[in-house]
Amino acid sequence: MDQPVFQTRQEQCPLCGSTALEEHCTIDRFAPEFKISRCKECHHQFINPTWHPDYLASLYQADYFRGRAEYSYHDERKNLHFEQIVWRARLKKIQTFIRHGNLLDIGCSFGGFLKSANRYFTTFGVEPSAYAAEHAQKESSSQIFSGYLEECPWPKHSMDVITAIEVAEHIPEPISFFSKIGTLLRPGGLVVIQTADFSGWQALREGCNYHYYLPGHLHYFNRENLAFLLRKYADIEYFYEFRGAEFGLLPKLRKARGSFSAFKDYLRWGKISAYHFKSQFMWKGRYLTSAMVLYGIKRNPA
Ligand SMILES: [Zn+2]
Repeated sequence: MDQPVFQTRQEQCPLCGSTALEEHCTIDRFAPEFKISRCKECHHQFINPTWHPDYLASLYQADYFRGRAEYSYHDERKNLHFEQIVWRARLKKIQTFIRHGNLLDIGCSFGGFLKSANRYFTTFGVEPSAYAAEHAQKESSSQIFSGYLEECPWPKHSMDVITAIEVAEHIPEPISFFSKIGTLLRPGGLVVIQTADFSGWQALREGCNYHYYLPGHLHYFNRENLAFLLRKYADIEYFYEFRGAEFGLLPKLRKARGSFSAFKDYLRWGKISAYHFKSQFMWKGRYLTSAMVLYGIKRNPA
């Protein structure tokens, strides 16, 4: 039973089409190990060769979501009260741009964020894992589409807000993904993307040991090429960049408390605070950490 693990190697950058690629890293902390290419033109990094679709699907079985697989999602259902603190802080920020309407969360997982958003928005979710989508459908009273964003059934310009929190790095085809966001989002609508910024010093300093290199992460963006994609394919005009998170430190500290079990765990607050403050600063044109959230407003033809 020899199932293929990888596809054939790509010779072009999936963002800008350049053939100037270099071997950047071999990630051997996982089995099987995988390789990362880096584009010399736009500095995009991506897994190359990428996983065979069947192998990729096998990474997202139920054990991934329950936090039991070697490579896992942290199960939001275990600490719902504490997770909600951050979701509410994010919603508050979103509402400084758009107060009501249709909100789509891409990669909605178990639907926790949508459930919080229901108070203000009519909510929609996309989730490729049937296991997580089924749970989200039951729990969140949102319309959930189980599959990839590109196949979702909602009409053009039907969304006022689209969120993709730690999702862009998982998607196989960035251009079709961002194009679909552009199709679904109404003019003047808001898109929220959280992913790591590979031009930040954190990613540069840690190199191939950076913890963001994971089997399920297929694309590694930076602040420049992510904005380029959003501008070109989703018609995003205005950008607001937040470092660390788009809300203050307090919600992060309160959320972290959910995983504390001993008094000494409170020391972690110091670490979280230091990281949060460090995230705000630049040196030689690069941010010190790689924690980035981009808010973008779609062009509104006058
Ligand atoms: Zn490129």
